[in-house]
Amino acid sequence: MSDERRIVIVGAGPAGVRAAETLVAAGVKPIVIDENARWGGQIYRQPPANGGFERSKKTLYGFEAHKAEALHSTMAALLPHLDYRPDTLAWACEAGRLDTLHAGRELRVPFSHLIIASGATDRVLPVRGWTLPGVYTLGAAQVALKAQGCAIGRRVVLAGTGPLLYLVAYQYVKAGAQVVAVLDTSPLSQQIAAAPKLARLPSTFAKGLYYVGWLKTHGVRIERNVTLVGIRGVDGVQALEWRASREDSPTETIACDAVGVSFGLKPETQLADLAGCRFRFDATNRCWLPEVDPAGRSSVRGLYLAGDGAGIAGADAAELAGRRAALALLDDLGIAHPRGPGMPDAASIERSLKRIAVFREGIEMAFAPSAKCASQWPDDMTVCRCEEVDAGTMRRCIRDGEANEINRLKALTRVGMGRCQGRMCGEAALTLLAEETGQSLDAVGRLRSQPPVKPIPLAPEMVADDIADIPVEARDE
Ligand SMILES: Cc1cc2nc3c(=O)[nH]c(=O)nc-3n(C[C@H](O)[C@H](O)[C@H](O)COP(=O)(O)OP(=O)(O)OC[C@H]3O[C@@H](n4cnc5c(N)ncnc54)[C@H](O)[C@@H]3O)c2cc1C
Repeated sequence: MSDERRIVIVGAGPAGVRAAETLVAAGVKPIVIDENARWGGQIYRQPPANGGFERSKKTLYGFEAHKAEALHSTMAALLPHLDYRPDTLAWACEAGRLDTLHAGRELRVPFSHLIIASGATDRVLPVRGWTLPGVYTLGAAQVALKAQGCAIGRRVVLAGTGPLLYLVAYQYVKAGAQVVAVLDTSPLSQQIAAAPKLARLPSTFAKGLYYVGWLKTHGVRIERNVTLVGIRGVDGVQALEWRASREDSPTETIACDAVGVSFGLKPETQLADLAGCRFRFDATNRCWLPEVDPAGRSSVRGLYLAGDGAGIAGADAAELAGRRAALALLDDLGIAHPRGPGMPDAASIERSLKRIAVFREGIEMAFAPSAKCASQWPDDMTVCRCEEVDAGTMRRCIRDGEANEINRLKALTRVGMGRCQGRMCGEAALTLLAEETGQSLDAVGRLRSQPPVKPIPLAPEMVADDIADIPVEARDE
């Protein structure tokens, strides 16, 4: 590799690891940055090295244990051939430079080529009482189990929508936790209508059906087409209220001490935004995504996207997309593609990705959140936790005609301006604005990302440049 090239991958999940593997096989040594302490990403998240508990891969990853094992061992074998930086957050990105934070120390990392494989996070929509202690996202409920070896409570309700709802319930019950109910806001008819698309990946579809059947035979109550009325409690969760979505349905209360709730996943696109990538509205993902070609090249030269961070498609697609982006990067550097077992060619990767995309459309169709949920949010319900902005404040601002675009609403109410930078409340603010103004989600605009993409200390220990070892031309690229 010539000295001017400095190739960085953000993310050591399925996409990042397969991108790194492909580059290393071609003789390129990338830097791999990940905020997690261990590689694997979300689905194949590993428990801490000295976590004080042991769970086998089969217990942790179920049907996907062999894939987890394959990814973990691939990365372990790659370690001598790359510069792996765990526990390192990339908190800002601009042309040719990432700002990172590791152990309280800041380090600027220049790059000539960057693959962003930053994955996804839960799509959060508020429910009355969602800020009470004991309320988690479904993803967080799963992280607690995988990384800390514990459940979020003793009597758990899992609610919202998306395939994680049933998967997390299955994993919880398997681990010995008590899941008193799974409350899915999507109607069964919506899920049946999506079946032809879901059948494009029969074994994945079958696993989903298996989880539902298994939960039922193990006495877990499953309700579909529900409206979540609210989570009740004083210092913590005590109950969840819900009703069937028909207007005149009575409200039912389920006693519980923890709730996991979210409405699918949304891509983590902030770094791509800060780097200046062009975005487009994606109807399947119901959000703005960085524009990419089928190989993962973004609109910024030398910047590639792979995996869920470019659009939710699942772990198998993430592995393929990571490989594909690395091949594109090699093409752009004029380096021959690696050949051999386990190294699929670009055309076959793209064919597989297309097939998975149809399945993904089916998932989004089956578990689409209700289009009119914001109209049910009471005025005094907090929408933005960080800045304590409630639905009423936002509605007044919109109804006074002061804001019909999301960044204007942000400027006037401070929604999305706090620690989470809209990662948690952005979706809710967009949904409320779209409903109030009668516009579509794409018409109300896109929340502009601002650094830091995640909270960092105000006074990092030291600011350093990681550029001593690269020539000036590369720094200026
Ligand atoms: C909480 C959660 C749980 C999930 N559980 C499952 C599951 O059980 N089964 C399933 O099929 N799918 C699950 N999914 C979806 C699945 O994780 C993805 O489809 C798949 O992992 C995508 O792989 P990826 O490499 O694109 O991203 P990920 O696996 O998400 O990996 C992204 C990596 O990037 C790192 N990263 C992100 N931003 C930064 C940054 N700014 N700086 C440094 N590092 C960064 C993260 O730490 C992470 O390790 C889950 C998703 C989430 C969000």
